[in-house]
Amino acid sequence: SNRVMLGPLVAAIDQGTSSTRFLVFNAKTAELLSHHQVEIKQSFPKEGWVEQDPKDILQSVYECMERTCEKLTQLNIDISNIKAIGVTNQRETTIVWDKETGEPLYNAIVWLDLRTQSTVERLINKTPGRNKNHLKHKTGLPISTYFSAVKLRWLMDNVDEIHKAILTHRAMFGTIDSWLIWCLTGGKKGGVHCTDVTNASRTMLFNIHTMEWDPELCKYFDIPMEILPKVRSSSEIYGLMTSGSLSGIPISGCLGDQSAALVGQMCFQDGQAKNTYGTGCFLLRNTGAKPVMSDHGLLTTVAYKLGRDKPACYALEGSVAIAGAVVRWLKDNLGIIQTSTELEKLAASVGTSYGCYFVPAFSGLYAPYWEPSARGIICGLTQFTNKSHLAFAALEAVCFQTREIMDAMNQDSGIPLSQLQVDGGMTSNRLLMQLQADILCVPVVKPSMPETTALGAAMAAGSAEGVSVWSLNPEDLSEVTSEKFEPQINPEESEFRYARWKKAVQKSMNWET
Ligand code: ADP
Repeated sequence: SNRVMLGPLVAAIDQGTSSTRFLVFNAKTAELLSHHQVEIKQSFPKEGWVEQDPKDILQSVYECMERTCEKLTQLNIDISNIKAIGVTNQRETTIVWDKETGEPLYNAIVWLDLRTQSTVERLINKTPGRNKNHLKHKTGLPISTYFSAVKLRWLMDNVDEIHKAILTHRAMFGTIDSWLIWCLTGGKKGGVHCTDVTNASRTMLFNIHTMEWDPELCKYFDIPMEILPKVRSSSEIYGLMTSGSLSGIPISGCLGDQSAALVGQMCFQDGQAKNTYGTGCFLLRNTGAKPVMSDHGLLTTVAYKLGRDKPACYALEGSVAIAGAVVRWLKDNLGIIQTSTELEKLAASVGTSYGCYFVPAFSGLYAPYWEPSARGIICGLTQFTNKSHLAFAALEAVCFQTREIMDAMNQDSGIPLSQLQVDGGMTSNRLLMQLQADILCVPVVKPSMPETTALGAAMAAGSAEGVSVWSLNPEDLSEVTSEKFEPQINPEESEFRYARWKKAVQKSMNWET
């Protein structure tokens, strides 16, 4: 047969909130050769609760791997060219499992989930001055429903099986990366229980200065340290695949999805930034070797550490809980669109929200407000308003939220961003991209290969010590082609709409009182 001759290949597992993907790249050119994607079910058992089944997630990973291998074989590409696998994942989502049976002890509590609101209130009430930033000097994070420690605390308090498993030393805690790596490297028969520094930095148990689990933080949340995974760098061999077509291949990269996108967009210099539009929206700006603490509601997080002996890089992050999720809501809850792609046509048919503002604070508001009690509102409705205006307002909401993050970031750093690099599932919406440039008043730049999150994880895996098939030097990679959206409306109009948006945000926070 005509085998296609290629150099080494590197694969990535991209386990996101809405789907799982497996992608295979050419390590010389960064070209995407083949991939497969499977949607992930989410359940909403109560108001504010969001869960996923850890076994469904694992199954989706195996399915994506096997289907991608089949596709490569059909392309006459030998899968034995795959030299390494990287993992990138939705961050903070929390799983506890039994290390003897290998069974999850509860569903995964997804990062968006709000059930820990009262846990958070209780914790904040016991801190001096009721300060939600009480742990920020160590973690870079405010105490919030968002991070894993409070989800784990809830599981320990409310799930009998988990309480028992901890007493009998059978419990393992992990974010999605840990769960997957443990399962893929053998599970109950010797799986590797680890995480990387970027995922660890989202738990609230990790000290981002010492780069270790912090005994004081664990004590604060009353979490036994023995259930925590070992923290490793983002690029090293963790273990080998033990089953399926890729058995024996090292797993050698691990990055939380937003860190992976930063790497995939080659934002290796202090000051470089990217914004990823998925279920939520996350703007990260590289701050180099030092963690910068925000005065404007941003998080300080570990960006990456690409090797055991390499220095850690930090980032300032603005996290928006609801971006693509509002599209899913318009589709699943209101039924005004059948598919996400229909939204663009609907919104474009009017080209304005006609004074309607939609604040999708479904899970409270994250950055820069960190207000868990905020709730969604739609205001400015008239008899004239129809579903097209609402669709437009939903897209605008994503853009305004990003503008708020960019403003905070510019204030914290003193150096305004001159353009915004973007990626993620929502960036296929061209109207959204144009609106974003209009509302930011700076150009928006989108790479033509949109899978930057997976690319970042593949780069980390391919450049690991002992694999070394991928150079992380941006100059060695082929030219990244991109598309640029320039601002088209005048800045006064943009400011006017933005000011209205801010009024609507205030209402979403105070509507109950
Ligand atoms: P995640 O990594 O969070 O799983 P993705 O980057 O895969 O997310 O993006 C999926 C999200 O993007 C979904 O919430 C979906 O509603 C939204 N989305 C996908 N295509 C479009 C589109 N053309 N217009 C608007 N939103 C879209």
